[in-house]
Amino acid sequence: MPEQPVLIVGAGISGLSIAYELQRQQVPYVIMEASGRIGGVLKSLHVDGFELDAGPNSIAASPEMLQYLEDLGLGDKILVAAAASKNRFLVRNKQLHAVSPHPFKILGSKYLSGASKWKLFSERFRKSAPVKEEESVSEFIGRRFNKEIAEYVFDPVLSGIYAGDPDRLSIAEVLPMLPKWERTYGSVTKGLMKEKGALGGRKIISLSGGNGMLAMALASRLSVPVRLNCAVSAIRSAEGQYKITYIENGQQAEISVARVILTTPAYATAAMLQGLDAPLANRLKQVEYPEMGVLHVGYNAAAVARPVDGFGFLAPNAEHLHFLGAICNTAIFPGKAPQGKLLLTVFTGGARLQHLLRDTNDAVLQQNILGELSAILGISEAPVMQHFEVWQQAIPQLNVGHARLREQVRQFEAAHAGIHIAGNYLHGVAVPALVQYAASLAATIAKN
Ligand SMILES: Cc1cc2nc3c(=O)[nH]c(=O)nc-3n(C[C@H](O)[C@H](O)[C@H](O)COP(=O)(O)OP(=O)(O)OC[C@H]3O[C@@H](n4cnc5c(N)ncnc54)[C@H](O)[C@@H]3O)c2cc1C
Repeated sequence: MPEQPVLIVGAGISGLSIAYELQRQQVPYVIMEASGRIGGVLKSLHVDGFELDAGPNSIAASPEMLQYLEDLGLGDKILVAAAASKNRFLVRNKQLHAVSPHPFKILGSKYLSGASKWKLFSERFRKSAPVKEEESVSEFIGRRFNKEIAEYVFDPVLSGIYAGDPDRLSIAEVLPMLPKWERTYGSVTKGLMKEKGALGGRKIISLSGGNGMLAMALASRLSVPVRLNCAVSAIRSAEGQYKITYIENGQQAEISVARVILTTPAYATAAMLQGLDAPLANRLKQVEYPEMGVLHVGYNAAAVARPVDGFGFLAPNAEHLHFLGAICNTAIFPGKAPQGKLLLTVFTGGARLQHLLRDTNDAVLQQNILGELSAILGISEAPVMQHFEVWQQAIPQLNVGHARLREQVRQFEAAHAGIHIAGNYLHGVAVPALVQYAASLAATIAKN
């Protein structure tokens, strides 16, 4: 009997890279995607000569990830960020403060009060044990450092990665090395000094043509085309197999498979699993995916009095601005805009600013953001290009309690051989983490 194909649900980077790895292992597969396009949140656009990424703008690539891109035939598309990308800035009182390349640079800047600098410096001598099993970021940082450091350093950094709320994000999920350093060395700053080498080794890259090229390259390598407009609605077990109900181009149908990999967001996976495990489905529904807006703006370079020579800048929530942070695309990848122009990608919404997207008219919100950018960067002209994308459910929030969800998923997989639950809320939000997970999952499946 021919081997039954593995069903992959979702054709974002998780689903596509799993399909590619299964193919490399000679395991047959089919891949169903609810929308009419591949890539999920990987989405590149071209507007007035500017190259825009509405989803991931850059990839922190290890040597293995670079090799992977080479193997996919993308070697000549890799753009390595300019050296200036090591410069990162934070906003306070509408001014930019350089806070890296060296993390301790902040001690010499005017960004933090003297009391906070002392807290940073003296952290290595302080003993303070966690009072609860799973702390939020604010609880952990408040305990090891103080409120100002939580609000002005860690809050913007986590906005930049998760667009999240540090009062709810779990420190063990989003910055696992910090509690590990506390356990191992008795101090976060000691751990940082001892292991700072471990944080490097990655290059910040982007792809010429946009990061959506990665999804295109993967899809072009698949011998089985992705079935677009094909949404899985339910999974149930029957006669030692799984019966999958799906709607393809408006028509409902069913197939039976022995193995299925769900790479869909938690809320979509919840709907499929409702009949198999209602408590897990209900817990999956609780994973928050706040709404986010991505504003791309292009300016004449001459109109920007204080351009940023660095990766970008992040705004602490306590500054009450209308955006979370901005990437200075052309400072790091000059080819992303026409000659003489400058491109910024500005993020708004997320766990703490999504009310702005819901309560304010989009045009007014964009105007508010442009006004704040003008004050910070000294911009004297209107943008020459402006494009706004909204993700209604953007990035999963790994809030306190996420460890329990992982355990529930593990128990479910153990009880339902042949169902694998994947995706960025379980295996890392960064693109390389998902690509890496795809290889390990495909190897396990091939072995079985
Ligand atoms: C604005 C933004 C900026 C980001 N910036 C970066 C960055 O700079 N660097 C970085 O590394 N990462 C970044 N990320 C994170 C990273 O892009 C994501 O974690 C990753 O792309 C998620 O891939 P995925 O395949 O797991 O999920 P998704 O991309 O969400 O794909 C899931 C797919 O499943 C499909 N689907 C849903 N329901 C069904 C169904 N019932 N049946 C079939 N298919 C279904 C969806 O249509 C979708 O195509 C960013 C994310 C966002 C939103």
